[in-house]
Amino acid sequence: MSTPSDSQRMEKIVSLCKRRGFIFQSSEIYGGLNGLWDYGPLGVELKRNLKNYWWRVMVHERDDVVGMDGSILMNRAVWKASGHEETFSDPMVDCRSCKARLRADQVIDKKGVRQCPNCGGKDLTEPRAFNLMFKTYVGATEDESSMTYLRPETAQAIFVQFKTVLEVSRKKLPFGIAQVGKAFRNEINPRNFTFRSREFEQMELEYFCRAEEGMRLLDYWLKERLKFYERIGISRGKLHVREVPEEERAFYSKANYDIEYDFPFGLQELEGVAYRTDYDLSQHQKASGKSLEYFDEETKQKFIPHVVEPSAGVDRTVLALICEAYAEDQAPDEKRKMETRVVLRFHPRMAPIKCGIFPLLKNNAQLVEKAKEIVDLLRPHMYVFYDESGAIGRRYRRQDEIGTPFGVTVDFETLGEKDATLRNTVTLRDRDSMKQRRVAIGELAGTLLADIT
Ligand code: ATP
Repeated sequence: MSTPSDSQRMEKIVSLCKRRGFIFQSSEIYGGLNGLWDYGPLGVELKRNLKNYWWRVMVHERDDVVGMDGSILMNRAVWKASGHEETFSDPMVDCRSCKARLRADQVIDKKGVRQCPNCGGKDLTEPRAFNLMFKTYVGATEDESSMTYLRPETAQAIFVQFKTVLEVSRKKLPFGIAQVGKAFRNEINPRNFTFRSREFEQMELEYFCRAEEGMRLLDYWLKERLKFYERIGISRGKLHVREVPEEERAFYSKANYDIEYDFPFGLQELEGVAYRTDYDLSQHQKASGKSLEYFDEETKQKFIPHVVEPSAGVDRTVLALICEAYAEDQAPDEKRKMETRVVLRFHPRMAPIKCGIFPLLKNNAQLVEKAKEIVDLLRPHMYVFYDESGAIGRRYRRQDEIGTPFGVTVDFETLGEKDATLRNTVTLRDRDSMKQRRVAIGELAGTLLADIT
């Protein structure tokens, strides 16, 4: 259950995201559009760090996975064959009193009487299917023949290109195809900030295998994915694995785990790890009339592979990273009086900016010049931020609030004015412990890279 302090925490997170340029409402100057969000200068960095790291772990560090980037619009036949046109819908109920449109499972049932959770009204329509796909038209005419949908998941592009990718990559089972990209769902109740959006990004892997390996690989991928979250700084204690019961699974799915995160608004799904059997490839083979079979050179057998799918949401993971990182602690101000410090404790791998670089005084040409040299030195390796305005404590605080793990200050010791042995060393400050140590400029890049890669 979420508590009032959880909802306050969420309000603070949303306000920080807006104030510091992580996430804004889309088309805000026109009143916004429900369920759609824009990522600002820091949000886009966080998002890219997450997607790049996912790609590194899931594709570059493995021999058995290759990537692809499919188009968002596909032939409508894809969505007919996949079952999305027919079944990708939520049963919806309208409240005739307050006009709210509700998912049928949100309607309150009081001793057999259905009640609107919004206004308490009892005048509700029967549940009706509401398809979650956005329709659009391709070409000059707007009729049935030119209609298709914005993809509601990235996976189908992988299934329909399975054979082509298999041939060009010369992989043998088991092997996977990974993709990161936008997906669109006309969600009825977008809510909880970016958690349930109408446009979002997915990071999906379709891992093809022999039928007899399916269950074992499902468990393997669950473990791999849990490791991934720990490696981006999400503690294992905040993650929960839910075994999806048979009655909630698609009829073709043999087993399915949801990886859930303990958000301030409750335990909610971050990623699904599903064993989809050979359903998708079989459907597309049937509908297209093209073979999607795999030929096993050793046994000389032809068959349709099974698939295990870890499917994660970029936006939900970004939100989890921010929720996990948000902290308030006590730190001394300029006059050594303790004050509340807001800090985002991002894992250095995920942090939007890796290092803040500060000359102690902005009106000292030597300090400024040295600090700019350090910017040039670090820039090829990481995203850094140069800041010369305001007291040094304030500059640290501004970086703490956006999660920059390291701060480098160029001071008079760097110039060797007090002690010649300290020439060309800087103060390196750690965001979390606020501890400071002296590091030689020549060793800076190596020291920081050890933590951020
Ligand atoms: P939910 O039950 O929360 O609607 P789902 O089970 O329909 O999610 P999947 O179809 O398994 O979701 O999609 C895989 C992943 O895509 C989800 O785990 C989630 O991270 C992400 N995702 C799905 N729908 C949304 C959405 N509306 N907004 C943001 N991310 C989403």
